[in-house]
Amino acid sequence: MDLDSMEKILQYAQESGKAIWEIVLESDMENRMVSREASWEKMRHTWRAMVESADSYSGQRRSRSGLVGGDGQKVSDYYATHASIGGTFTAQVIAQALAMGENNACMRRIVAAPTAGSCGVMPAVLIPLWRREQIPEDRMLEALYVACAIGGVIASRASISGAAGGCQAEVGSASAMAAGALTYLQGGSAPQIGHAVAMAIKNLLGLVCDPVAGLVEVPCVKRNVAGAMNAIAAADMAVAGVESRVPVDEVIDAMGDVGRRLPVEFRETAMGGLAVTPTGRAVQQRMQQSRKRQRTLTIKDSRWKLATAPADAPAEGEA
Ligand code: SF4
Repeated sequence: MDLDSMEKILQYAQESGKAIWEIVLESDMENRMVSREASWEKMRHTWRAMVESADSYSGQRRSRSGLVGGDGQKVSDYYATHASIGGTFTAQVIAQALAMGENNACMRRIVAAPTAGSCGVMPAVLIPLWRREQIPEDRMLEALYVACAIGGVIASRASISGAAGGCQAEVGSASAMAAGALTYLQGGSAPQIGHAVAMAIKNLLGLVCDPVAGLVEVPCVKRNVAGAMNAIAAADMAVAGVESRVPVDEVIDAMGDVGRRLPVEFRETAMGGLAVTPTGRAVQQRMQQSRKRQRTLTIKDSRWKLATAPADAPAEGEA
């Protein structure tokens, strides 16, 4: 089955009596021509990579620009010693979203879900819940299949790329995927998953992509926190019986429409929003100067190597 309509998936789930995750698994088997076991094991590998990435976080690391690093640790330290405003679980979600975003900015291994810039949203809501509720791993894999259905439909009808549709397409899509996965884990019905997705996207509709100096650091890392908190709110609303007045496919189509109409300045070009604030421009200038300095050093360095290499020595790259 093509993953191009949430309504179609939800309807098929109701008619066939199959769970959404089952439908997506079958679709994966069909599309990639793999066995059920192969599909399942690939998903297990993805989940474990996500957990490993979360566990490998270090608050000591800094991104190359120096703008990002250590914030996930700050929030962890904070809730370990203070009663945080939103409670421990909320603080854990915030810390995890920051930590994973920092892992990405510091070039660590992450799971793009759906993109690297928005890689913190899904693990931020799933890992603390998995640990708190001691959810069996297989059920987490089912939740990931649900998230895949949502990501697939958004990619097919709108976009999951900041360059094409702004940050609503990256953090917004991740938030929708996380909201659907959470609703599933909370025992929500297939229609409730649809409502959670619709509400999550609506709340972030129009979010622009404006990375400072073109780096996936500021505001990306902290936006993952917004995406995660939005997912929790959307899932809780849906399971409580709150419904989106606009059907989910129409919301996704609206997101696609907004994305296409976004001026180019707000689509990953670093020509608008936070990227062109005085601070954003100053960071860009600093990064340009540092790149220029690095290039000069490299050229001088290779000249020095040429000048000092013995006449019969093989050139670099030769065996
Ligand atoms: S601001 Fe742009 S680069 Fe950063 S996460 Fe959002 S879409 Fe990705």
